Amino acid sequence: MDNQRLTIQQIQKKLIDKKLSAEELFKETLDKIKEKEHKIRAFISLTEEEVLTKGRALDRKLQKGASLGNLEGALYSVKDNIMVKNLKCTCASEMLKNFIAPYDGESVAEVNNAGGISLGKTNMDEFAMGSTTEHSAFKVTRNPRDYRRLAGGSSGGSAAAVAAGFGQFSLGTDTGGSIRQPAALSGVLGIKPTYGLVSRMGLVSFAPSMDQIGILANNAWDMARVLETIQGPASSKDYTLVRRKPVAYHRRLESIVEDQESKKEKLLKGITIGIPGEFFEIPLEKDVEKALNQGMERLKDHGAILISLSIPHFHYSLSAYHVLTMVEAVSNLARFDGVAYGNRASKYESIIDVVEKSRGQGFGDEVKRRLILGNYILSKEKVSLARAKRVQELLKRDFQKAFQQADLLFTPTTHVTAFKPGKRSNSPVDMQLLDQLTVPASLAGLPAVSVPCGNPENLPVGGQLIGNYFDEPVLLRGALGIETLSETMDPEQIKVR
Ligand code: GLN
Repeated sequence: MDNQRLTIQQIQKKLIDKKLSAEELFKETLDKIKEKEHKIRAFISLTEEEVLTKGRALDRKLQKGASLGNLEGALYSVKDNIMVKNLKCTCASEMLKNFIAPYDGESVAEVNNAGGISLGKTNMDEFAMGSTTEHSAFKVTRNPRDYRRLAGGSSGGSAAAVAAGFGQFSLGTDTGGSIRQPAALSGVLGIKPTYGLVSRMGLVSFAPSMDQIGILANNAWDMARVLETIQGPASSKDYTLVRRKPVAYHRRLESIVEDQESKKEKLLKGITIGIPGEFFEIPLEKDVEKALNQGMERLKDHGAILISLSIPHFHYSLSAYHVLTMVEAVSNLARFDGVAYGNRASKYESIIDVVEKSRGQGFGDEVKRRLILGNYILSKEKVSLARAKRVQELLKRDFQKAFQQADLLFTPTTHVTAFKPGKRSNSPVDMQLLDQLTVPASLAGLPAVSVPCGNPENLPVGGQLIGNYFDEPVLLRGALGIETLSETMDPEQIKVR
């Protein structure tokens, strides 16, 4: 088996048993990057120089028999809207192309403390506004499963990096689906945790009431391990963080699997999974429908009970999401004025002029479109804002009703599989439709995970599990249940039509 496909736990075991050295493992990853990155374009900045030195240091540590941190032996990447000290944090924008992060984002610091080693910063849509990375000011990321296609977005670089085997995981961000959707199109797992479980300190805001840092990984085990590491931290400066006792997600998953083996119990025994009808009213591509059915079968095989239920306000979610996020973006991007932060125009005549020119040159079309619409709503359409807030409340109630009947909900992540550049970039509405299945959980602040769900011979399809607040342990259990279907999802083994 390809070392890049091992779980972090398996890597650590091999390192401890001296079946593999960290230097050797890291070199394999770097070679893979050298071979494929020019075709995939997952990274905005690569910081590989120190990786081998750090690998040798880890090998020396292992020689001495020292115990390993939670993420030691793992390589990872970070979406370019999360700060990593002394590295550029561009948000894929001309506006921030020379901005150097003065400190580490809190989740990055947690990963580093646990021994994770960073490979670099990944490509995205400018300020996380978009669904394909086609709105990046620098490059478009291609899908490692088929280079002619896109990897999704906005965390497209992170999804592509994980799918290509460039490290074990990536930290991404999800406001309306930006982790789950590229994960689905690229054939990896992507989790958006409950709003408030993971610190947003060090994340450049787009719409902070919904922005959330999460994880893209190749399996549920690694996802559990990373989530365990980045939850909190208790010392966080993020005032929206919910202070709770840390949960041992990896250990929880292990105890269920051990139980299952010893007592022959099923992984999802006692778990009820709701299938919300409205999510299936969206016309799904044939392959998506087929894979989703396989996913449901797999959930049943593991002992889950499937029931039908309803999220009545589902169809209003997408409009509400765009109204709310555009309005929030207006205040959050106001700081990029060429004075406090960001690109400053070289020639200007007055303070108004410097702001106008710096913003005019620094922001791309999609960001401008949202800022103009957001300002319009704030000045002329306040009633839409009130309605969007109302939809958000009604959706939250719908979900709470659903969770009285079911532990998890299962839906498609996207209605389509990966597509080619240009297919949707000329139509903002076509682009927005890619988020219709992911925004409901974002509006409600609920945790949700996308898991590769069948169709291993063709393009990847993602199934989405949505859980109740802080029910990540059950969510990860469900993810593990479906994930077994994706075992053959190695890029080299995919036969694309
Ligand atoms: N694609 C969605 C948008 O354009 C979601 C973005 C995100 O989650 N950051 O708003």
